Amino acid sequence: MVLVWGVSLCCSLTAPLPPDAHPIEPPAIFARWWAMTEGCSGRTGALAAVRWYRAPGSSVPIDGVQAAGYWSSRYNRIVLPEEMVDNGLVVRHEMLHALARNDTHSRADFLDACASVVDCRGGCVDDGGPWNAPQRDYLVLPPDSLDIASEARVLPPESDGQRWVTLLVTVRNSRDRAMVVKAPGDPAAPPTFAFDIRGPTGGISVADVARDSSTLFFRPHETKSRLFEFRVSSELTRYHVPTGQLLVRGAYARRWAAWDTVLVSP
Ligand SMILES: [Zn+2]
Repeated sequence: MVLVWGVSLCCSLTAPLPPDAHPIEPPAIFARWWAMTEGCSGRTGALAAVRWYRAPGSSVPIDGVQAAGYWSSRYNRIVLPEEMVDNGLVVRHEMLHALARNDTHSRADFLDACASVVDCRGGCVDDGGPWNAPQRDYLVLPPDSLDIASEARVLPPESDGQRWVTLLVTVRNSRDRAMVVKAPGDPAAPPTFAFDIRGPTGGISVADVARDSSTLFFRPHETKSRLFEFRVSSELTRYHVPTGQLLVRGAYARRWAAWDTVLVSP
């Protein structure tokens, strides 16, 4: 349904299209993202049944607030602001609504099964209800108690010519005991998964913050992961990388994996 950055809200099943929204053919990468969302949720559905619209800007108005995107159940319609079309986490959030045919945000879907591939913040986290640790006998340990790795890949070109680079960051609790990570920084917004990219035109580093305590809790031998995705473009942004040689690495709770080098051909 509605995904808003830093704002809690709910919902409209019949929201009118913004006047400046227009229909689009989904980019080829959306088929990959749809399959990822089917895979994590255990649901199946027809991507071709979803109608896609794009509106200018970084957010779309719905019920008087600005949203990062929304799915309308009545029309099986997803409206994305232009700046979110390359944001896999936001697009898959809306895909998950379309697959579940449900405009609410269940913890099981959004914060558990699909946590590594869909965004969930603000009202999405609130909808999930309070989280309780699945067991009480856990250790509280610093991030260097975890095994952290990251792997960058240049994907084969999509059928529409788009090219994408991914960075998969994995973090594993190798202990036989459950643990909670004592993350550094702001206790109200502890840093979790992050990436760092250095390229010919400069560098960028962005860190997620914990959605709630479930992000910091690891069952014995549990691995969590986060996929960062970048469309090959002319510039380096949070969702784009330029061609050339890139140094890429991932982190969890400010503990960094080794650098990877990838070469993105012109
Ligand atoms: Zn939503």
